[in-house]
Amino acid sequence: MPYRFNNCPHCGKQIIFWIEEADIDSGKYPAPIYIHHTDKSCGKTSTFYVDSLLRVSYTTLEKKAGAIKTIKTIKSFSKDRKKRQKKKIEEKTGKKSK
Ligand SMILES: [Zn+2]
Repeated sequence: MPYRFNNCPHCGKQIIFWIEEADIDSGKYPAPIYIHHTDKSCGKTSTFYVDSLLRVSYTTLEKKAGAIKTIKTIKSFSKDRKKRQKKKIEEKTGKKSK
């Protein structure tokens, strides 16, 4: 599962985000991706570098050039997981469930 658990380099709090291969430019690894910490007391964006298995290699405080996307951190892991499971079922069956 491409959920990633890490720490925000600005405030040090634990963060969760979801990353897919389409989110990065795979021309060169480690590949940068912007991570926006959606927390009221933080709200800062940093750059995370991931390897070809989308594992975080290292992070920087600044927005470095080269990233193609900004990912927002997930506030509720259980809610997000439910949402993604529902979406997956909808894609499989072609139907929208209530
Ligand atoms: Zn933060």
